[in-house]
Amino acid sequence: MMKLNRGSIFLIAFLLSTLTSLQSSSSSSSEESNIISRFQQYLQIKTNHPTPNYTQSSQFLISLSKSLSLESQTIELVPGKPIIILKWAGTSPELPSIMLYSHTDVVPAEHDKWVHHPFKAHVDDEGRIYARGSQDMKCVSMQYLEAVRILKSWDFQPKRTVYLVFAPDEEIGGHDGAEKFSLSKDFQDLNVGIVLDEGLASPDEHYRAFYAERSPWWLVIKAVGAPGHGSKLYDNSAMENLLKSIESIRRFRASQFDLIKAGLKAEGDVVSINMAFLKAGTPSPTGFVMNLQPSEAEAGFDIRVPPTADAESLERRIAEEWAPSCRNMSFRLGQFKQKLSVLDASGKPVITKTDSSNPWWALLENAVQESGGKLGKPEIFPASTDARYFRRVGLPAIGFSPMANTPILLHDHNEYLHKDEYLKGIKVYESIIKAYASFDERVKDGTSKDEL
Ligand SMILES: [Zn+2]
Repeated sequence: MMKLNRGSIFLIAFLLSTLTSLQSSSSSSSEESNIISRFQQYLQIKTNHPTPNYTQSSQFLISLSKSLSLESQTIELVPGKPIIILKWAGTSPELPSIMLYSHTDVVPAEHDKWVHHPFKAHVDDEGRIYARGSQDMKCVSMQYLEAVRILKSWDFQPKRTVYLVFAPDEEIGGHDGAEKFSLSKDFQDLNVGIVLDEGLASPDEHYRAFYAERSPWWLVIKAVGAPGHGSKLYDNSAMENLLKSIESIRRFRASQFDLIKAGLKAEGDVVSINMAFLKAGTPSPTGFVMNLQPSEAEAGFDIRVPPTADAESLERRIAEEWAPSCRNMSFRLGQFKQKLSVLDASGKPVITKTDSSNPWWALLENAVQESGGKLGKPEIFPASTDARYFRRVGLPAIGFSPMANTPILLHDHNEYLHKDEYLKGIKVYESIIKAYASFDERVKDGTSKDEL
């Protein structure tokens, strides 16, 4: 009797526990599929250039904000270019706020070069979500919102106000989006203390975080020289003059690239220079005149300059070695509007500190660690993001997209993100938002410091 009773109890207990675990696993897997489905819906909205559908993306984001009871506001500093601001009010609104920033636009995609349609957000058998924007950066936008959803479900109360800001046009320079916004009264009114913006995927297990970025310089050099018969050997032809410069530029490029290859510097720490165009020759109906050495030749270069580089010496190098007037050469820097200074208005390099003077950095490191992630060494972003506009107005801004074990596919064919990495990233943001929104330096030293 005793034996039978114990057996029955065990059996009932076993059945009950199985049932409970089945229920909880099915509810967590249905929650998981809701999360993935919301991500897919956002990816399916065609916010690709040249005709991004900002109306649809705005409607989608606002409908999500309603489901989270966030206050929403849409501003248009340029008509047709909406900036969506969602607000999660903090209990200490006098403290500077947290801005979780992302851009809503994506670059175009050549459909026929993809294995799955770039705007269908197909999840393959392995769990990879294929879509334009899956890495750059609709993942981050949705991870912010999902993290807020979870924190709210725990009744977490932010001390600092948390803003989620979704802006247009980053992929075409951000001039009608982040740039105007960073200088606007609307932005000042948010009293932002720290900005989080996009980073890059990492092929290894470490997440990457960026504290600065390189500035683009677009350089065109032009050579002129006496024209001559194609058969004649003489000095100072335009082609010869240009080729000497190209050789010199190639040597410089190799010296910078060698530093990366030797592991001495990261990609963002060197000056990169790549030729974008070559323009020379005398056109003829059948192609080019072949027995004529032309009197003009031009070449264009995309240069990326880290804020840690000596910009003055680079400009001198351009004037003295790459386009010297003694070789009948001239140059234009900043044609096509790109020659951004590596310094801010006060003459200091545009960087966000990663030492103890910036508590947000340590908070990020700890929060990532607490969520089970690993963070690599702080880096300079090799290209440009909207974060530069916020750094220029003196704010700390960290570029961070939690994607480890993921190939870098932004702007590439077959951009994808694995769903497990996407879900892990939500946990990372839960941890970061919690840490940032709770941070109050006044509590630590008993003084009021609002300048953070
Ligand atoms: Zn981006």
